[in-house]
Amino acid sequence: MAINPIQMQKGLSLTDFLQQYSTQAQCEAALFQARWPQGFRCPVCQHAVATEFLRSKTRLWCCRACKHQTTLTAGTMMHQSQLPLNKWFLAIYLVTQSKTNIAALALRRQLGISWKAAWLLKHKLMDA
Ligand SMILES: [Zn+2]
Repeated sequence: MAINPIQMQKGLSLTDFLQQYSTQAQCEAALFQARWPQGFRCPVCQHAVATEFLRSKTRLWCCRACKHQTTLTAGTMMHQSQLPLNKWFLAIYLVTQSKTNIAALALRRQLGISWKAAWLLKHKLMDA
């Protein structure tokens, strides 16, 4: 795993969490900050200038030096996931805040996703 997407602060309350990470835009901004704290860096050549564009709702950065295209989630467990970022964030929150091992069934219920998606998500998170 290339990066740990979000360092969840210990003891972050659910209300604080929801205030900070409930929308797709908030989660993208947080991920950008975690991934490129000094601004965009091409993962191939480290160039700092990129052209940003949207392709089927995914934000892409095309490096102006080497033309490599990357996304916020490339190289992370969220790469090419169908699950929206805000659901990933909520899942990470639920799994990391749970003192006991949260059941996939609970994730399924709380995220409103399928049992299979919840099971996969839980196992990806436990591996990370
Ligand atoms: Zn590059």
